[in-house]
Amino acid sequence: MKTVSVIIPCYNEEEALPLYFKAVDPIISQINDYHLEFVLINDGSKDKTLEVMEQLYQARNDITIVNEAKNYGQNPALTAGFEQAKGDYVIIMDADLQDPVELIPQILEKFTEGYEVVNPHRASRKEDSFFKRATAGLFYKFVNKIEHRKIIPENINCFRGLSRRAVDSINALPEKDRFYVTMVPLVGLKTVSIDFARQARDAGESKYTLDKLFTHAFNIISTSTTRPLYFPIKAGAISSCFFFVSSLALIVLYILGQCRVMPDYPQVSLWMAISLAFLGFSLIIACIGLVGIYLHTILINTRERPDHLIDYVKRPEDKKDENNGKES
Ligand code: UDP
Ligand code: MG
Repeated sequence: MKTVSVIIPCYNEEEALPLYFKAVDPIISQINDYHLEFVLINDGSKDKTLEVMEQLYQARNDITIVNEAKNYGQNPALTAGFEQAKGDYVIIMDADLQDPVELIPQILEKFTEGYEVVNPHRASRKEDSFFKRATAGLFYKFVNKIEHRKIIPENINCFRGLSRRAVDSINALPEKDRFYVTMVPLVGLKTVSIDFARQARDAGESKYTLDKLFTHAFNIISTSTTRPLYFPIKAGAISSCFFFVSSLALIVLYILGQCRVMPDYPQVSLWMAISLAFLGFSLIIACIGLVGIYLHTILINTRERPDHLIDYVKRPEDKKDENNGKES
């Protein structure tokens, strides 16, 4: 029987985890063709998540615990899960039931049909805030427009089903700044989408503050496309043309005696000068910031530093060893 490793990154999910297993157990009992195991990544939680995982580990025989040395973030936690998952297939899910466990049988069905990448697509995001829906929509449009091709499929996040071949290909990608939303589409292979309605979080709260969301968005852009780097050159060329033509027109008008330098409206000209200076400054700062983000990406990808460190891993088979140790 084929094994499916369900990877669940967890940061402060002490309340969500028991609810997850309460919801997934009735689903598991309906599955006959695949054996499911759960790879729980504790991403340096500050609450009792690790204790809850240890209890689950003792109570069940399908739990692997990967305890990270500290909190590194969702994507590095996923990297740890990808490295440790041994299954013939992998499903990535959040701990908070926003990715419905009822979809697991459908994903398995697609594996049986021969698909190697299964993308659950958020057909409805009613439960997300208006702000999150609007910014996510803008983000997808922006990223896919500037590159002139789809680099991030819309409304598909980390929730995925992947074959062993797809997982191995992703693990072999050399980048250190790893974002699974952009890396999974790189793999290609036989891919299918299935629609679902994104649920509200069952317990706890979202770990993505506004600041984290923006940083995340910029990092995803800089790791997947270099197109924004052309923006300063294009903006510079357009504004130089504009200023060149308008200055030429002013000089000609001045020579012809048709132009005065607004002597009757000193405040207007002062405000215009200030606004133009501000516009210029903000554009320059934005362009330096843009280059800074790409420098960040180069730095992260060239220094040989791992994106996470693991404290310990416990697999179901280690439990037998522990028990034998106690008996002897
Ligand atoms: N997560 C993590 N490390 C972090 C932040 C989040 O492992 O530093 C996990 C979190 O526990 C959850 C998943 O990543 O299982 C997605 O996080 P969250 O639900 O907060 O994101 P949202 O669904 O609000 O986008
Ligand atoms: Mg969530």
